[in-house]
Amino acid sequence: MRLGAGLMALLAALVIGPGVVAAGAQSHAVSGQEILKLTQQYVDAAPKRYVGSPGHDAAEAFIKAHFAPEVAKGDFVDDRFTARTPIGPVTMHNLLVKFPGKKDGIIVLASHYETNYPLKDIHFVGADDGGCTTALLIALGQYYRTHPPQGYSVWLLFDDGEEAIGSSRMAGSDQLYGVRHIAAQWSGDGTLARIKALIVADMVGWKKMNIDRETNSTPWLLDDLARAGKDTGHSNYLFKNTLPIDDDHIPFKDRGVPVLDVISYEYGPYDASTGDYAYHHTAEDTMDKLSATSLQVSADLFLDLVKLINQRAAA
Ligand SMILES: [Zn+2]
Repeated sequence: MRLGAGLMALLAALVIGPGVVAAGAQSHAVSGQEILKLTQQYVDAAPKRYVGSPGHDAAEAFIKAHFAPEVAKGDFVDDRFTARTPIGPVTMHNLLVKFPGKKDGIIVLASHYETNYPLKDIHFVGADDGGCTTALLIALGQYYRTHPPQGYSVWLLFDDGEEAIGSSRMAGSDQLYGVRHIAAQWSGDGTLARIKALIVADMVGWKKMNIDRETNSTPWLLDDLARAGKDTGHSNYLFKNTLPIDDDHIPFKDRGVPVLDVISYEYGPYDASTGDYAYHHTAEDTMDKLSATSLQVSADLFLDLVKLINQRAAA
């Protein structure tokens, strides 16, 4: 027999294709396929989850239902607060899940979970924006439940009110409500000083995602991200674009916490008429844009980052 051209191409792809070796040849601590499934379940349960909506309650319930053991142990915190917004006072909820480690110090992994209030009248489900990263954090939590952190504690922060309420573009003080609230609270109670790193996951599920070199992030954490790319064989998913982004890490950066924004801001073709990517904050942000491979890459990077931050402390 001889190898057909198709099979040759397949073999070549297995050897050199981006992500193919990692996705096909190794078993993974956290499965991208599972995260994709979980994302589907989340956007089915709470397709519209803007602040104050019944869908928002459903989103909170979905997250909480996945952390029953942590709820029972008292390691699940519902941080409820009232935000002053352009539509008046709004009740918001940050949800925090704690996986205690063995060393003093905390690594926080964060994602916003709500959808945009200004997009409430279109079919906006935020599959990539808020959907897949909520699922990613849930999946990481399932991993840390069965593999408790041996170094620093790992806290998952599902933060609320990341998106602007008064317009579809984030601007000024009408954004980042949840993280601004909890950063202030943690500043007051001493928690902030114990945070070794805060890593934000945002928009990391697109089929063509490529994680930005986000320049508001702390340089040594960008170095660790590059290192994680090498460790996991995913370097080709990193740093095509370099840009600063106003995201959930900023209130912590402003208070001196080392921060990293893991985000692929590019999302679909660039639309010159809006000055934005076509799937960002539009009805196009749907499940079919995502891939298990991208979510696998993201999960692998997050797990490795936590490992590297712990190693850094030991060095
Ligand atoms: Zn958004």
